[in-house]
Amino acid sequence: MKIVNVTPLVLGTPWRNLTFVKVETDEGITGLGEARALNRTQTLLGYLTEVVPRYVLGHDPFDIERLVRRMYREDFGRAGEVVMTGIALMEIACWDIIGQALGQPVYRLLGGAMRDKIKAYGNGWYTVERTPEEFHAAARRAVAKGYQALKFDPFGGGFYELERTEKQRIISLVEAVRDAVGPEVEILIEMHGRFNPVTAVEIARELAPFKPSWLEEPVPPENLGALKKVADAIAPLGMPIATGERLHTPYEYRELFELQAADIIQPDITHFGGLMSVKKLAAWADAYYMLVAPHNVGGPVSTAAALHLAACTPNFKIQEHFNDFDEPYVKESAPGVPEVVDGHFALPNGPGLGVTLNEALIQEHPQQQIHFNLFADDWHKRRAALTE
Ligand SMILES: [Mg+2]
Repeated sequence: MKIVNVTPLVLGTPWRNLTFVKVETDEGITGLGEARALNRTQTLLGYLTEVVPRYVLGHDPFDIERLVRRMYREDFGRAGEVVMTGIALMEIACWDIIGQALGQPVYRLLGGAMRDKIKAYGNGWYTVERTPEEFHAAARRAVAKGYQALKFDPFGGGFYELERTEKQRIISLVEAVRDAVGPEVEILIEMHGRFNPVTAVEIARELAPFKPSWLEEPVPPENLGALKKVADAIAPLGMPIATGERLHTPYEYRELFELQAADIIQPDITHFGGLMSVKKLAAWADAYYMLVAPHNVGGPVSTAAALHLAACTPNFKIQEHFNDFDEPYVKESAPGVPEVVDGHFALPNGPGLGVTLNEALIQEHPQQQIHFNLFADDWHKRRAALTE
């Protein structure tokens, strides 16, 4: 079997552009991939224009390791976010093709079912004013959808330090969410790499009474020694550190593992070279007794890929999901993903990824010229600024 055509399609939404790829073979099987390239969609498309003829066209989709190795190494320069996203798009589509060719869901080809349902956490549910009342009401609405775990970033556009008034406001927001969801629902605190170590530790101490299930990306992603400093300081609070969505290669994770600077790793399958790369990373993490909670800010194809990995990965913890809190057309752009019921996804469908693309709907929502800036005021409302 050979890949004969690769077509990118971009679905525009108010705060994210989702890049789908349709990978066609000479045997009539078409595989799908998808990624959200944050503020760099056009860069990703440019990368694909350059490398698809070089590596992908004519390749046998069953030979995934060779395709990934060639795309990673044979351009010589170091691979980062854009390259690892482009590789992931092709890799995920190859698994979709293989699964269809063999009549099996992808998770059955990557180790088989480890569990019979997949715990989800909701994100993107707090697109409201930053007041305790509005966060309280939004959290109630999210748990009414069945979610038993919710993630949020209550920190506004904060960076490195916070004013005292902001600290008080943040504490009141987290207190309101805990009050809204009760003691049994998990709350996950997202810091988006905002803080210097001492501020992150101070906030963690203030928030500890509300029992967050993890503290995510407390410091920016470049200095893992600084992360280790935070992890050591908050370990006595019993608060795990989660991180990793902005580490894009196993070589970047090496330092994290050696330092043991986190408890939960969050590789993004779509920014990490795809399913098999993350599956291998998970096995490595297991040697450090670390859990895996893949980052997923994607649409339905990314979510389907994440569910296949979740189904078959022993040290999987929980799956991120935005699409119950966004425009309905996002889910409709590729039907086939199980719904979250009582806080869990059923195992994903097959064969392959088990999703199909609604190209007509995607064409109705073209790419948006947007800048989604996590350091702007009110970014959490997810109405990105339009740029010219
Ligand atoms: Mg995050």
